[in-house]
This record gives sequence, C-alpha cells and structure tokens, in this order.
Amino acid sequence: MDLPFTESYKIKMVEPIRKSTRKEREEWIKNAKFNLFNLRSEQVFIDLLTDSGTGAMSDRQWGAIMTGDESYAGSSSYYHLKETIKDVTGFEYFLPSHQGRAAENVLFSSLIKAGDLIPGNAHFDTTKGHIEFRHADAIDCTIKEAYDTTKEHPFKGNVDLDKLEHVLISNPKERIPMIIVTVTCNTAGGQPVSMQNLKDVYQMAKKYGITVIFDAARFAENAYFIKMREHGYRNKSIRDIVQEMFSYSDGMTMSSKKDGLVNIGGFMAFRKKEMVEKCSMHTIMYEGYITYGGMSGRDMNALAVGLQEVVEFDYLDTRIQQVKYLGDKLIEYGVPVQQPIGGHAVFVDAKRFLPHVPKDEYIAQTLAVELYLEGGVRGVEIGTLLADRDPHSRENRYPALELVRLAIPRRVYTNNHMHYVAAILKNVYDRRDQLKHGFSITHEAPILRHFTVELERVHKEASVRK
Ligand SMILES: *Cc1c(COP(=O)(O)O)cnc(C)c1O
Repeated sequence: MDLPFTESYKIKMVEPIRKSTRKEREEWIKNAKFNLFNLRSEQVFIDLLTDSGTGAMSDRQWGAIMTGDESYAGSSSYYHLKETIKDVTGFEYFLPSHQGRAAENVLFSSLIKAGDLIPGNAHFDTTKGHIEFRHADAIDCTIKEAYDTTKEHPFKGNVDLDKLEHVLISNPKERIPMIIVTVTCNTAGGQPVSMQNLKDVYQMAKKYGITVIFDAARFAENAYFIKMREHGYRNKSIRDIVQEMFSYSDGMTMSSKKDGLVNIGGFMAFRKKEMVEKCSMHTIMYEGYITYGGMSGRDMNALAVGLQEVVEFDYLDTRIQQVKYLGDKLIEYGVPVQQPIGGHAVFVDAKRFLPHVPKDEYIAQTLAVELYLEGGVRGVEIGTLLADRDPHSRENRYPALELVRLAIPRRVYTNNHMHYVAAILKNVYDRRDQLKHGFSITHEAPILRHFTVELERVHKEASVRK
C-alpha cells in the first residue's frame, strides 16, 4: 500500500479555538462594518486572513529566544542572523527592520524619488503603497497568463520580458531606480517565478544598468516550486536553488513574518556594501541602530533559526502539500480557484463564484463576508478594495481578478481544519444564485483603504440563508 502523506513535525503545545453560532457572527460582522480586519480573533474559528506572522515556531526557535542577546549595539544575535543570511542567501550585507514594509520604507526612502518608475511582477500592496506615496509609479509587467485563473502555467509569477524591456527602452535609466521581482508573487496568487525568468530579468537589467531587488517574503516556497516544476532542478537541494535564485539579484527586502517562520521582523540584504551605506541613515531614523533595526535580540535569534528551517525540504513539502490539499478539495467540489494552487494560499475566483454581484458592489468582499457568516472562516479580499483608487483620477481601479485569498498559517492548522474550510465554501457555492448584491463604502482612508474601510449592504436583506 502507498503510504499517506504525513506532516514533518508533531505537536507540543495546543491553543483552543471555539466555534460560534451564525447569529453571533451576524452581529459581530455588522458591528465590524463588514470589514473582516475589524473582527476580534476570538470571533473567528479558522483564521485564514493571512499567513503573515501567524505561524507556529519550532521548539528550536523557542530555545533560541531564551539565548537572545539584548545589547543595543553589536549583539551576538545580530551576528548570528547576519551569518545565517549570508549562509542562506549569499548576501554579505544586511540591515534589520521591524517588518517587511519597514525595509521597503528604508530602501525606497534611500533610492526612489518622485516621477520614478519601478517595474516588476504585480507588486505587493505595501510595496505599491510605498512607491505611490513617493509619487512614483509601480509598473506591472507580469505575464498575461497570471490573469486567467483557468489557465495552467507552472510559473504564473513570471515577468513578461517584452513588457519589461519596453519600460527599460522607453524611459531614461535615471528614472528607474530598481526592478522589483516578488518571489513568490503574492498579488498574482502566490505564484512562483521560474529560475529561467529570474535569470533573464537579471541579464536584461544588467544590460540597461538597472538594480534588481527581490521582494523575497516567500523565497523558500518559490524554491520548492522550482525544484518540483522546472526542468533540471528536481535533484538539486532547496539550499542550492535558493542560492542560485539570489545570485540573480542585487539585494532583497524581506518580511520575516512569512518564510522567516517568525511572528514579527524583516530585513534588507545586499551584495554590495554601498547599498547598506545608502540605507543606514534611514534605518537609524526610522527603525533603530543598524545592529537591531526595530528587532529584539531574541527575535533575531528566532529568525536565524527559522531561516535555516524554512529551507529544509520536508518542512516545505508539508507546507505546500497542505495548501494543495485544501485547493484540491475545492476543485473536487467545483469551486472556482486560481490554478495551479499557489504556495501560501488558495485563491478563490470570486467573479466566477458570484457572477450576479455587480463589480461596483465589491464581489470578492461579498464572498469573504459570506464565508465568515457560513462558518467563522476568515479569508481576505484581493479585489477592488485592495486595488484602491487611481492616485491621479481617484476612480476605483477594477483589477482583472476579484479573489478571496485563504492564506494558510505555517504549521498551525491540521488537514481536518482544511476539510472544514472546504465544506464551508461548498455550502456557500451551493446557494450562490441567491447572492445578488454586495456592499457600498461608507468610509475609507486615502491610501491602503482595505485595512480600515467601512461598508454597508446595498440591499439590507441581501444575505439569504439556506
Ligand atoms: C507581507 C509582504 C510584504 C510586507 O511585509 P510586512 O512584514 O507585512 O510589513 C511585502 N511584500 C510581500 C510579497 C509580502 O508578502
């Protein structure tokens, strides 16, 4: 008999979670102004809002927490982390920051000016926010296959080289401070970038004299996909693949809350010392002294251990197989999802799920609210709310895809939890024809509005029960 798939860890500590009633959830979501970010965590049964900082640390990481060095300058935890980053990525120079967007803030403050263009593959929302906040433009050069959820393509995070070259040819080099390649590409559905594409982008960038930075939050998950899907990599170790990936960039920003396997933290790392010199002043101004940059010594220690664990094949296999388990269940139930299934999340295609809801009533948000009401499952909208308004015209930007992301925290839930989530989606899918209306906005912030937006139902009776 073939042996079933098993997790590469056992459980040493548990955290109780509680199911609520539909009546309770109706009250809670109304009080939360139909914004899932406003819910208290106790009001959620299975929390798939994000995989960011929500993972479980290992016993080795908790052990490292106890030996953190809290010295202001020159802490041994800083050197432990510096050596680990060098070992895993090959980058000699690094600056810590309190999370990924803080690294973006420091790097962009040092390198981006108004009127600049930053091409890349579907920039992450905070990345785009930090670019636009500086009156620069993020240019999306992702391949077109990324925007068709039914199309099988092994590397939907790839950069379209023609689109990229067009930007590089038609603008002066001084206006393009960097190309940002996001691995895996969160916005396009947790989709990986192939090694060949990373290499081609780097070679093109060098031809035009442009710096390449990886937004590397999920670099190890990307490496796993290269190993499993790209010709010539099946027998290479994750570590070797990671090293080769980073050889095609000049530096990285990192949200350690993803593939750092910790609950908070970030960093920048570079091949050249001059980059650190450029970024040190803003690190000291915004984050703290350059040997801690907003992180405690114990957190740097836990991160150093996490970065070694994340490049173990067995860890990654457990991780990605669990995400796939949920995705495959949904496919079996006929629920429309982005395919192939990404690394950290399953993305439900809300336009195909709820064909009757008009686009100006926030289709993906309507679905996300419905999943919460059905079973206390919290996903997140990746659609018109997240896409925000055009900074020039202030009109809603309607993205090609309206998605609900079900992000799976690392090492937290079991496959039974995934099975429950799939059943909740199936139940909503079965009554999709009754869902005809969504929401309108009653309050929103000028930038990154999705975090604090307040909504009301377009038709008060809209949530129809089975
Ligand atoms: C999470 C994330 C960020 C921002 O990092 P934070 O730690 O949340 O500030 C940037 N880029 C990508 C691709 C991310 O997933």
